[in-house]
Amino acid sequence: MTLFTFNRISHKILGVVGLVMATGLVGLVAFYVHEEEENLLAQNQRVLINVTESVVQSLNAVMIAGYADIGAMLSERLKSVPDVIEFRILRTDGTEAFQDNRTVKAVNERLGDDRFPLHKTDALVRVMPGLHPRLVEVQKTGQPVTYIDTQFGGERIFTILAPILHQDTCRRCHADETKLRGVLKLTTSLKAVDTDIASTWQHSLLILGLTFLAVMAISGLLLRRAVIVPIQAMTQAMHRASGGDLSQTVPEVSRDELGQMAKSFNAMIGQILQMYDGLQQERNKLTTILLGAQEGMVATDRDGQVVLVNPAAVELLGKTHERIVADGFMALFDDPDWMLLQLGRPPEGDQAPIQTLAYKDRILSVHVGQIAGSEGQIIGSAALMRDVTQETRLREDLRRQSDTDALTGLFNRRYFDGKLATEHALALRYDHPLSVFLFDVDHFKKFNDTHGHDQGDRVLQHVATAFRQTVRPMDVACRYGGEEFIAILPNTGDEAAAAVAESVRRAVESMVVDGLSVTISIGVATFKKGSGEEPDALVKRADTALYAAKKAGRNCVRQAEPVAS
Ligand code: GH3
Ligand code: MG
Ligand code: MG
Repeated sequence: MTLFTFNRISHKILGVVGLVMATGLVGLVAFYVHEEEENLLAQNQRVLINVTESVVQSLNAVMIAGYADIGAMLSERLKSVPDVIEFRILRTDGTEAFQDNRTVKAVNERLGDDRFPLHKTDALVRVMPGLHPRLVEVQKTGQPVTYIDTQFGGERIFTILAPILHQDTCRRCHADETKLRGVLKLTTSLKAVDTDIASTWQHSLLILGLTFLAVMAISGLLLRRAVIVPIQAMTQAMHRASGGDLSQTVPEVSRDELGQMAKSFNAMIGQILQMYDGLQQERNKLTTILLGAQEGMVATDRDGQVVLVNPAAVELLGKTHERIVADGFMALFDDPDWMLLQLGRPPEGDQAPIQTLAYKDRILSVHVGQIAGSEGQIIGSAALMRDVTQETRLREDLRRQSDTDALTGLFNRRYFDGKLATEHALALRYDHPLSVFLFDVDHFKKFNDTHGHDQGDRVLQHVATAFRQTVRPMDVACRYGGEEFIAILPNTGDEAAAAVAESVRRAVESMVVDGLSVTISIGVATFKKGSGEEPDALVKRADTALYAAKKAGRNCVRQAEPVAS
C-alpha cells in the first residue's frame, strides 16, 4: 500500500498542496456561508419590521378612530397568524393589552361615561417582565429592537419589539404622557432561515469537495509532469548507477533546478566513466606487466585468500595456479613457519626484508610482506620471488676462484691469510691448540732444469693432490707460493701436527709422476696460548723449522722451537 505512505516525494508535495488548498477552501466557504447567514437574517428582520410597522399603523388608525374594540379584536387575531409563535400587543410594563379592564376602566373614568364596554375576563396577562432589558431599550430609543433566543431543543427564535408611539390624539382617551403607548411583540421561528443556512452549508461543502478534488487532480498531473517524472527518472538512474551500471543518462528537459540536477548527474557519470576507463587502462598495463614479469608474484586479499598468482610464480614454485590458491599463502614454500617468521619481521625502511631460500632445485630470492592501505590498515599480503640460482652459483664460483690456486686447485695465499687469522682468533677464544706446517720441494730448481718447467708443473699438481688427500678433512691445504705449500691444522697440538706432516712427507716421497719422484722438507709450528704470538710469527717459525729441515739433509720434518715466554 505505498499509495498512502509519505515515502514518495509526490505524496509529500500533494499532501502539502492538499492541506493548503483545504485550509483556504474551508476558510472561503466559512466566510461565504457566514455572509449568507447574515444576509438571510437581515432580510428576515427587514420583512418582519415592515410587518410590525404595518400592524402598528393599522392599530393606530383604529385606536385613533376610537374603535378600541377593533384594536382588541386585532390583538386576538394577531395570535392566530400562521408561522408566528407569538404576536401580541403589550403595555409598556410588559403586560398584554386588551386582556383586562384596567385601561378600559381608566379611559371610561376619564371620559366620564361607559363608552367602552368591559372585557368579560379581567385577568392581568404578563408577557415580559416590566424591566426586561429589551423592553427598556425600546422605551428609551423609541426604535424597534430585535433579538434572537435559542429554545430548549436548539430551535432559534427571532423577536421584534416594535414601539407603538404616543400621539396627540391619544390624549383624548389616555391621560398619561408616556413616550410610548405600547409595544408590539412579534416572535417567529428561525427554523426556515436555519434550514436555508444548513442547505447553503451543504451546497458549499459539496462544491468545496469537488473543487478540492479537481484542484488536487490538476496539481497532481502538473506535479507529475514537472517534478515527479524527472525526479523518478533521476532516482532510477542513480539507483542503477550505484548498482554498477554506468550507462545511465537522464534527459535534461528543463532549465530549472531539476534540469541542472540532471545535467550535473550526466556530467558526473561522464567523469566516472572517464576515470573508470583510465583505471581500466592502468589495470591492463599492470596485468601485462604481471603476466610478462620474470619475477613471481602471489598476493592475498585482507582475509588471506590468494587472489593473484602470475605465470612466473607458477613456474618458479613448480605448482599449478589452482594448487597455489588451494594450499593458501602460508603454504607457498611448503613451510608455514618460515612464512610466519617472514611476515613477523620488521620492515627494512618501507620494504620487507629480502630472503634467499633454497626451494626444490632452485635458489629463490623472496620478499614477503603485508600490504598496507592508505590509512595504514592491512589489506593483504604479497610474496615476490626471483630465481637467483644461476647468479648465486656464479657468485660462488667467482669466490671459489678468487680463493683457489689455478695450477693446483688448492686454496691460495690470499685465502690462507684470512683463514689463519680466523683460526687464530678461534684458538685464542676457545683455548684450542693450533698448528701449521710449511713444506718446500727439494732441489726443484734442478728438477726444472733437468725435466723442464712443464714437467715441474705436473709434479707440483701431483704433490698438491697427495697433500690434500693426506691431511684430515678439517685441515686446510694451501699453496703458499712457487713450490711451497702450507697447511692449517685447527685444534691440533704439536705432536699430532708433526704426525700429519710426516704422513704428507711420506705420501710425496712415495709418489711417482711420469717415472719421476720428488721429496719435500717440512717445518711444523704450534701456537701456544698465552704466548701472544701473531699469525705471521707462527708462519715465520714454521719457515725457520723448514729451513732447519733443509739443513738437516731434506726429506724430513722439523718442529719449530717453542716461543720463548
Ligand atoms: P732447495 O732444496 O734448497 O729448496 O733447492 P731448490 O732448488 O728447490 O731451491 P729453491 O727452493 O730456492 O728454488 C725454487 C725453484 O722452484 C725455482 C723455480 O724454478 C722452481 N719453481 C718455483 N715455482 C715453480 C712453478 O710454479 N713451476 C715450476 N715448474 N717450477 C717452479
Ligand atoms: Mg722454494
Ligand atoms: Mg725448493
